Amino acid sequence: MLVESIVRFTLGIKDHRVVSVKFSHNQLRIELNAKKRRKLPCSICGKRLRPKDRLKERVWKHVSLWGIPVFLCYRPRRVVCPEHGIRVEAIPWSMGKKPISFPLITVLAFWTRMLPWDQVARLFDVSWNTVRAAVKAAVEYGRKREDYKAVRFIGIDEISRKKGHTYHTNVYDLEKKRLIWSGAHRGKDSLRRFFEWWGKERTAAIEGVCCDMWQNYIDVIHEYCGDAVIVFDKFHIVRHLIEAIDEVRKMEAKALAEAGSGALKGTKDIWLKNP
Ligand SMILES: [Zn+2]
Repeated sequence: MLVESIVRFTLGIKDHRVVSVKFSHNQLRIELNAKKRRKLPCSICGKRLRPKDRLKERVWKHVSLWGIPVFLCYRPRRVVCPEHGIRVEAIPWSMGKKPISFPLITVLAFWTRMLPWDQVARLFDVSWNTVRAAVKAAVEYGRKREDYKAVRFIGIDEISRKKGHTYHTNVYDLEKKRLIWSGAHRGKDSLRRFFEWWGKERTAAIEGVCCDMWQNYIDVIHEYCGDAVIVFDKFHIVRHLIEAIDEVRKMEAKALAEAGSGALKGTKDIWLKNP
């Protein structure tokens, strides 16, 4: 049957088979089972072992088919690993205890790169929290496989969201031009969280840091990687210069106004022109 083939193809299963596809209450329920006499992998080490027993049924939301919600139903097997004891098998379409299939995680995370999360939720008929969980899971998955060895130069920047009401601190690998970390808020604790996650060994390999001329960042960089060269990017230096010029202009204008002169009135743009 075609639907079974599509399920097998989207899940990439070899040790499991589709037992039935039922359409009821406007949903497709796909029941899966482990193939008979098949050894299944331990979820920790992947060693293939004969299953011992099975747990109660778990249900995963899968990618919808022609707009019809699809659910996968399966009773996970447990294996007795000589190294890890009794463990649940590594289920190929599952990520931990998440109630959504791995292909759905991938699809949701992919669309969040192009659409706001609430629209992705509506488009795929899931909750906003499910979209958030999918993005988190996809990031975890990618991070595990990402090679962060030999990152020598990092850039730190803050971005504002919700019209400047909330901030995020982003850390980039400047050589490979990729984002390596993003954390809520800006400030010492946010940047400390990055360095704690990055670890001592990788931090020791950092040779240079490019960031905003901001004392909070500078303090934390000194705290964690005192040997790295700190470079301030031109954009931020220019911004600080402009702010300083404007400060002086305001002071002077105020002093002149108090002395009864309006000489600096209406000259703001002249002073703040590209220096
Ligand atoms: Zn094991």
